[in-house]
Amino acid sequence: MPALAPFPGAGFFHKGQRSPVIAAMGKRLVAEGCGKYRTGPGPEWTEVDQQSYAAWQRKLGFEGAEANGIPGKTSWERLRVPAATRPTPQGARVASPVPGHGVTTPYRKKGPHWSLGYHTGADYAAPERKPCVAVRSGSIVRSGQDTSFGKFLVLRTGGFDFWYCHLSERTVTEGSVRAGQKIGRVGSTGNATGPHLHFEKRPAGGGFGTDVKPVW
Ligand SMILES: [Zn+2]
Repeated sequence: MPALAPFPGAGFFHKGQRSPVIAAMGKRLVAEGCGKYRTGPGPEWTEVDQQSYAAWQRKLGFEGAEANGIPGKTSWERLRVPAATRPTPQGARVASPVPGHGVTTPYRKKGPHWSLGYHTGADYAAPERKPCVAVRSGSIVRSGQDTSFGKFLVLRTGGFDFWYCHLSERTVTEGSVRAGQKIGRVGSTGNATGPHLHFEKRPAGGGFGTDVKPVW
């Protein structure tokens, strides 16, 4: 596997550009399972390169304009390091706090059974004991249990707190964690009608009612 050059800048990638850097990039994309090439990657920047690179960006958890297929510095630097030796960088993010599961009850849904009249987090319904992971690197600053949130953990990262609630088990109860690290398991402790993760975001140290949209 040839070494991939340092990031040449987003402006480098345009129609008609030819460079061994593009061929090397294509080979790395194929190695990561993201290559969409019918005849193998070549030195010329094409639409297929862009589609392949977009697949790589999505694999890293980027969405929307961040997964447009135009290489950026973060995704490029990660592509340069083969997966087996790649550490989880500080800025990494994972796609879901319950890997393999998506939102089943959205943030801010209205309903009289919620004490503020709306849902203060996003719910991820999943079978009991499914792993919950840190969505970003940070630290577990609180671990507790109460009648509404059941067993819960608080991950602090980037100036915000992410609350993991109704857990059946807390695997990590304090200290630093890396993005993707398992910190607990889905449960239905506290005020829950079935197993799910209630995932809530607040400004660091914020009390109940300071919730914001749980993006990370
Ligand atoms: Zn909820």
